[in-house]
Amino acid sequence: MSNKVYRGKEIEVYFDSEKCIHSGVCVKGMPQVFDLNKRPWVNTEGASANEIAAHIDSCPSGALSYKRLSQES
Ligand code: SF4
Repeated sequence: MSNKVYRGKEIEVYFDSEKCIHSGVCVKGMPQVFDLNKRPWVNTEGASANEIAAHIDSCPSGALSYKRLSQES
């Protein structure tokens, strides 16, 4: 399994490196969240959960996916 999980307060982001076709859509379109030079490379607090979810929907390979978390902790 190559699935990684990045958990934020309102959204949990999943990345499957085997599916990624390296289109760069994620890092070019939302560098404040997806930055390969940072660890972890997904910053779940870099934008609103709505913005992150909408951007993940544009990932052409399906390597990125997400689950919305309820606001109650
Ligand atoms: S947008 Fe999707 S396919 Fe493209 S680099 Fe990011 S994770 Fe990989």
